[in-house]
Amino acid sequence: MSKVVKEVLAANQGYAASFGDKGKLPMPPGRHFAILTCMDARLDPAKYAGLAEGDAHVVRNAGGRASDDAIRSLIISYKLLGTREWFVVHHTDCGMETFSDEVMRKLLRSSLEAASIDASGWHDTGSGDGSAEGEHISWLTIPNQEQSVLEDVLRIRHHPLVPGTIPIYGYIYDVKSGKLIEVPKATEAGRVR
Ligand SMILES: [Zn+2]
Repeated sequence: MSKVVKEVLAANQGYAASFGDKGKLPMPPGRHFAILTCMDARLDPAKYAGLAEGDAHVVRNAGGRASDDAIRSLIISYKLLGTREWFVVHHTDCGMETFSDEVMRKLLRSSLEAASIDASGWHDTGSGDGSAEGEHISWLTIPNQEQSVLEDVLRIRHHPLVPGTIPIYGYIYDVKSGKLIEVPKATEAGRVR
């Protein structure tokens, strides 16, 4: 068993030992909202947004982007599980700012080993065959945080399966301070119609 697996299982034993009455929580989020945010390890939505188990849906992916799959989750979140307000939260110093589709595709064509980054950008130093399969994925990179929040709020707002009654709020989480900073034009774009 790997070190990480041992650590995770040990932590879980402690968690389960003090689980209390959380086993009685209902499935629908008690506070009726959802957050779409980045998978970045420095972001803990439960802490930055004050969530306890059972409070809210948190949808995460690289960048916190409004991908087709993120939208699938949000639609299930309101249609079947009753969320009524949504946040899109991107963040400062996001890894998605460090590359483009073109860069990622080239790295993956070169090898399947982990790439490294230096002042001049990403480099593939791996050996072995890569794959051209990366050409078929839109990597949803982030050239500009405020713009990406606005684009994602707009995409969700105008999605034909999203009702106009759900407000969508746009924020950037600052990894240096822990603060959520509103992107006013995104929240404006996400207002109830
Ligand atoms: Zn990120």
